[in-house]
Amino acid sequence: MGLFDKLKQGLKKTHENIFNKIDKLVNAKSDIDDDFLDNLEEILLSSDVGVNTTEKIIKNLKERVKEEKYERTDQLQAILRDELKKAFVSGNGEVKEPFKVDKKPYVIIVIGVNGVGKTTSIGKLAYNYKNAGYSVLIGAADTFRAAANEQLETWAKRSGTEIIQLAHGSDPSAVVYNTIQSGIAKGYDVVIIDTAGRLHTKVNLMEELSKINRVIQKQLPDAPHEVLLVLDATTGQNGMTQAREFSNSIPLTGLVLTKLDGTAKGGIVLKISSEMKIPVRYIGVGEQIDDLQVFDKESFVHALLED
Ligand code: GDP
Ligand code: MG
Repeated sequence: MGLFDKLKQGLKKTHENIFNKIDKLVNAKSDIDDDFLDNLEEILLSSDVGVNTTEKIIKNLKERVKEEKYERTDQLQAILRDELKKAFVSGNGEVKEPFKVDKKPYVIIVIGVNGVGKTTSIGKLAYNYKNAGYSVLIGAADTFRAAANEQLETWAKRSGTEIIQLAHGSDPSAVVYNTIQSGIAKGYDVVIIDTAGRLHTKVNLMEELSKINRVIQKQLPDAPHEVLLVLDATTGQNGMTQAREFSNSIPLTGLVLTKLDGTAKGGIVLKISSEMKIPVRYIGVGEQIDDLQVFDKESFVHALLED
């Protein structure tokens, strides 16, 4: 299956939620009146697009309808797609070329609360970097859960990459130290650090992240090159708070939104992407190793609104 088809399949629930409802609305009404716009607003809100973004979209739509004299609602599909795309563009940072590294080792840390999909996303990331021709070393700095090493090992095997681990209960900073050291000594292209899930409200665990950051910088002053915060799209509403709290301990460079295949409220990506300063870099659309996609707003909106 091609990438776009995979994306479409992953966004199926959200697509049904948004597209089918809009389609129904467009077919049921022939004028773009207040009633139409109210209904549209409700659809966008119910798919978690967010109040601010929805208001912006509705306001822009109203203006365009006035200016461009759109009289029939079926003409609205095109403008609507256009406005959704625009809402995506604002607030996003630079777009980096995916899976291409310009430093060696290129260090990525993956953080987030429990169960959001950090380890799974690392497996998928490792697979993608490996496929791009790079050697990848994974550091198992989630020493908190007994099963964590085993889970990460499975992903390393699947992706054909290497892993550094210490005994369960070891200091995560020690794992990070060893991994960076080995990454440098053995000339790995990419080093990815897995971390234990932590509540953004637990001060000592958040401080541990700062410590991990310092341990990396001692060996590689310009690292980490990426700090990815993983957010679960099915519980997305809390994402803003998590991003704020995590960024107090370590500067974030990007977001990974997982489990989009499991929610009809994938509009959360639109909300987060337009309301947060940190760019959405990747989206998870399934549990398999090739189910991580580089987030691209054009194809996202396309997959969401195309029949
Ligand atoms: P961690 O605690 O943050 O490391 O989370 P895990 O990587 O262990 O993932 C927790 C659960 O979420 C696992 O059952 C994964 O298979 C599942 N998961 C992760 N990403 C996705 C995704 O994109 N789609 C789906 N459907 N499940 C996912
Ligand atoms: Mg994990």
